[in-house]
Amino acid sequence: MELSASIGIAFATSGHDDSQQLLEQADVAMYQVKRKGGADTQVIDLREQHVAEDQADLKVDLGQAMLRKELRLEYQPIVRASDAQVIGAEALLRWDHPTRGPITPATLIPLAEQSAAIAEIGHWVLTQACSDRHRWGRHGDFIMNVNVSAQQFLSSDFVTMVRSVLDSTNTRSDDLALEITEAVFVQDAARAELVLHELKQLGLRLALDDFGTGYSSLNYLKRFPGDFVKLDHSVISDLAHHRESQAVISKIIELAHVLDMSVISEGVETADQHREVIKLGSDFCQGFYFSRPVSAEVLTTSAA
Ligand code: C2E
Ligand code: MG
Ligand code: MG
Repeated sequence: MELSASIGIAFATSGHDDSQQLLEQADVAMYQVKRKGGADTQVIDLREQHVAEDQADLKVDLGQAMLRKELRLEYQPIVRASDAQVIGAEALLRWDHPTRGPITPATLIPLAEQSAAIAEIGHWVLTQACSDRHRWGRHGDFIMNVNVSAQQFLSSDFVTMVRSVLDSTNTRSDDLALEITEAVFVQDAARAELVLHELKQLGLRLALDDFGTGYSSLNYLKRFPGDFVKLDHSVISDLAHHRESQAVISKIIELAHVLDMSVISEGVETADQHREVIKLGSDFCQGFYFSRPVSAEVLTTSAA
């Protein structure tokens, strides 16, 4: 049998470091070696350690963010492509950190998924979005889209939680669309299909988010029993430069229509992009060209 060692090295610098801190740094260096395949030595990379410490601090703060009411939602209108009429909105999470300022969902959601906070945050987002949705009226005429993280979606009590929020906020299930990504199929396809069908039975609408990035699997698209496919903004910004992207997107839109789904183009920023996605057959649009995400109050006055 061959043994190997992964060795992490840390130095006491200007005499400030206590022994405990030194051991912790050596430990971080050792895990850096292991991640690279082991059987090596490495001096602590302090930048990596600072990132890790920073993330750990943020995670602690996130645990308190709800209590301190630092989380809020903004809403970005979704419009009909042909006449830019508002037909719904997507709820987008915002965290106003007391010292660091705004933290983006791209940082916040993965952090929440690493701790148990995702269940609580996901519940808060859905409850807040449904309460606002209920307050606005326009039943059957305005869809509230809510993002759901893959981890939250696949958890055992997700459907029960959704049902109880619909009840407690008096929300009609067809006024709500849940947005998920292909990650749910990648992580656990069998469970994903089960949950999707249970949600469908509740009468909810379903959207496949960020299509065109990552996997973009036609197989997942076919298996998705949903109502909307959302084309990612990277796809839309690519359209002007690449003829072949247009051909691919028009085929994806055709396929979505054959499968009885509508297509929402995300990240539409210019009149040219708007024209282009209409030409390719997109049904709905969302993007800065129509509106940035806004507060609930601004949305109700502008969409009224
Ligand atoms: P997403 O669901 O694809 O949301 C659309 C993102 O595109 C939003 O970023 C929105 O602000 C941005 N966007 C909208 N129009 C434009 C445009 O014209 N140009 C450009 N460049 N960007 C545009 P945001 O708010 O930073 O959210 C990022 C992602 O974080 C979301 O992507 C979603 O995956 C996730 N997220 C946001 N809120 C939640 C939430 O409540 N729960 C979960 N699980 N995820 C969330
Ligand atoms: Mg989304
Ligand atoms: Mg998206």
